Amino acid sequence: MKYTRSDAPKRPKPDRLQDWNEVYLREEPPERNAAVRTQATRCMDCGIPFCHSGTAGCPLGNLIPEWNDLVRRGDWELASDRLHATNNFPEFTGRLCPAPCEAACVLAISHDAGGAVAIKRVEETIADVSWENGYVQPAQATVSSGKRVAIVGSGPAGLAAAQQLTRAGHEVVVYERDDRLGGLLRYGIPEFKMEKKILDRRLSQLRREGTKFVTGCEVGVDITVEELRAQFDSVVLAVGALRGRDDKTTPGRELKGVHLAMDHLVPANRAVEGDGPSAYSAEGKHVIVIGGGDTGADCYGTATREGALSVTQLDQYPVPPSVRDDDRSPWPVWPHILRTYPAHEEAGERRFTVAVKRFVGDDDGHVRFIELQQVRVEKDSSGRRRVVPLTDEIEVLPADMVLLAIGFEGVQHMRLLDELGISLTQRGTISCGSDWQTTAPGVFVCGDAHRGASLVVWAIAEGRSVANAVDSFLTGSSNLPSPVIPN
Ligand code: SF4
Repeated sequence: MKYTRSDAPKRPKPDRLQDWNEVYLREEPPERNAAVRTQATRCMDCGIPFCHSGTAGCPLGNLIPEWNDLVRRGDWELASDRLHATNNFPEFTGRLCPAPCEAACVLAISHDAGGAVAIKRVEETIADVSWENGYVQPAQATVSSGKRVAIVGSGPAGLAAAQQLTRAGHEVVVYERDDRLGGLLRYGIPEFKMEKKILDRRLSQLRREGTKFVTGCEVGVDITVEELRAQFDSVVLAVGALRGRDDKTTPGRELKGVHLAMDHLVPANRAVEGDGPSAYSAEGKHVIVIGGGDTGADCYGTATREGALSVTQLDQYPVPPSVRDDDRSPWPVWPHILRTYPAHEEAGERRFTVAVKRFVGDDDGHVRFIELQQVRVEKDSSGRRRVVPLTDEIEVLPADMVLLAIGFEGVQHMRLLDELGISLTQRGTISCGSDWQTTAPGVFVCGDAHRGASLVVWAIAEGRSVANAVDSFLTGSSNLPSPVIPN
């Protein structure tokens, strides 16, 4: 009751738009640590800590009340130990996770309680203090199992599985088809959300522990499935769910300048890595982003930094409570606040309860306008979602670039999956049994490839669980943690 919630301070908006660096201010450690100790002090150490696990809390089972108390007492080293006990990469989740733990925190129940404990801020600071003070060291296995595991994909799920299995004594090789490691962390997440040096220092730890990496290698093409099977005792598929959902119905979708979100984000992130200018840059363009989620916000902030003339994000749903003019709603609003991102404060405009009726092009077949209509989202009698126009009135907005950030539809088509004989679910993800094993014996799946596009914290949790399953498969039992079960 003595302290109010305070989030990490952000850099001034004009500064943020001048570069690609992270939005949040990197404070001097003494001031930062003092502020975060105050925030950790707000934790009540609940008898039943809803933040810690369960259907709404942390999928990793992070020991949140425990490390909140250690931070309150200033014992950062033990806090680091307890944080890393359940989370391989807390600096990723601290920066990228929308924090279901905070949504579940008992203090989020009412405004009178001052809002949820700033768990994400505490987690990120413990991780940063750990790296600054050398608490993060390679943890090498003491015995070798003599078994070899191939992991396909180097996103957060693949990396978590790789680290767990390497530490358990297996020889692990991670195959990545891109030229650099990290999957979505590298080419999907903009630098202003997580600078790539954060990823690189963790990769360096994995290398020093003994995990091997092969980049620029598409399994099924550059190394055949037969070679893979011959060389490894087990395979983990952590290939993501990168098949972007397209708009198959709106007239004009075929016009030049209408792209899937990843067509914009990947080259933009490559440009920041030094690979040369993006062919999909928003510079000098009127940009429309369709979709109100994380990926839409990433496109929004990226287009703003690229120098777009205007950026407008469209959402079929109503204004979230956090951006209403009044907050008279008596209901808990915390989870909805997550739909507003720092990028939205910087520039541009958000429009709610609207949908595109038509993309309109010029004589060269390039999009120049969109026609917009007020809509409401309803469910029909069978529970299917449908979008209903509220009026016949059409609004016209300029649009030189349209980015479709309307979700993902499962794994991309890969020769590897065909040759392994992998079955997919109706959602386009890879199906598996209760032991994470796919329809191909000895081949396991984790992360978005199994779950569908989801949060980084779920990817890490599934990576840890699949490591337990593979370890059991190879040795008959496992002491590795398994925080989640397949859905
Ligand atoms: Fe602390 Fe909130 Fe978790 Fe309770 S629910 S233990 S107040 S972080």
